Amino acid sequence: MSLLITNIGELTTNDPELGILRDAAMVVGERVEWVGPAAAAPAADERLDVRGAAVLPGFVDSHSHLVFAGDRAPEFAARMAGQPYTGGGIRTTVAATREATDDQLRANVARLVGEALRQGTTTIEIKSGYGLSTLDEARSVRIAAEFTDEVTFLGAHVKPADSPDGYVDLVTGPMLDACAKYAGWVDVFCERGAFDVAESRRVLKAGIAAGLKPRIHANQLTMGGGVQLAVELDCASADHCTHLSDADVDALAHSNTIATLLPGAEFSTHAPYPDARRLLAAGVTVALASDCNPGSSYTSSMPFCIALAVRDMGMTPTEAVWAATAGGARALRRPDLGHLGIGASADLIVLDAPSHLHLAYRPGVPLTSSVVRKGTLQSLCVEEGHLLNPRASHQSESPHKGVLS
Ligand SMILES: [Zn+2]
Repeated sequence: MSLLITNIGELTTNDPELGILRDAAMVVGERVEWVGPAAAAPAADERLDVRGAAVLPGFVDSHSHLVFAGDRAPEFAARMAGQPYTGGGIRTTVAATREATDDQLRANVARLVGEALRQGTTTIEIKSGYGLSTLDEARSVRIAAEFTDEVTFLGAHVKPADSPDGYVDLVTGPMLDACAKYAGWVDVFCERGAFDVAESRRVLKAGIAAGLKPRIHANQLTMGGGVQLAVELDCASADHCTHLSDADVDALAHSNTIATLLPGAEFSTHAPYPDARRLLAAGVTVALASDCNPGSSYTSSMPFCIALAVRDMGMTPTEAVWAATAGGARALRRPDLGHLGIGASADLIVLDAPSHLHLAYRPGVPLTSSVVRKGTLQSLCVEEGHLLNPRASHQSESPHKGVLS
């Protein structure tokens, strides 16, 4: 089944050859098959007329923590009243998550994945990290794998209050053994109060030995050694990068490691934003992600992150949109995602706006009007659970039949 998307007022392809096209059209199956002027478009089985709207790749959210129970709204309110963020509140969510049933956790992930999809996210990475026991971490990655192919084992999120001694032995031993088959990535929170550089190196190296690819929470709260460790181990991404030395920036610029910035966290913790302009000026590849979690960034909105990056981190609207799409794809080492060149996965969004610039220009406005994933128009109904895992995905009945002919 092929779909012609036509009368595209502005098509952002993120493809270096194609660039940004006006009055464009595209034909997609599961992958992008044809891109060009609307007047020259070939026929297809179905037709979607977007009437001058902007079209761009779906957002690739390369950092989220969706497997949890409960919320921490009172902690957020206390922070806004002046209390600092320390990361210690993670243990509150651990207690609630351990209490929850599998179905409760599953329902919460489904709710948040659907929420993200309605805002244009077509790929989302999901981490464990609120179980902190072999049993609870294993069920976290198992549930995450029902929703996405990009599952990250984050047993080393924080040391559990009840058994901090020997925890790294557990994470790198029995817990890793129980989790590795459900995950593609290993991650660690390398930070004062969580795991130091030596512990983080052990965690990531054990994950690599088990066949997982490394990524890391680095330099969020302090100028620690996380970024240097990321480059040393060729991590796909160093996430947060809020407090960086010149040597850190230089190391990133001469590496394959993406700097993934998570401005929802600085918003929610009342902290200074990372300096995206400094990174871009040095030649570092920057991604934007939501960090969606109940403690330090309870947003699933990539458009919100784009708006923050433009307003407070020195990015242009075009750079921020690239970072939230192609940047995220690079942070997940997925060359098939984040762009609309020929052969790319046909994951794209239609905006209720004439240009991608409106994502930052009109903050807080729900501009995503249609979402196409692997060539299929997605239902954006709130009631419907969403799975971003192709092995489990269903062909949803479209509520947008009026524009299909
Ligand atoms: Zn995180």
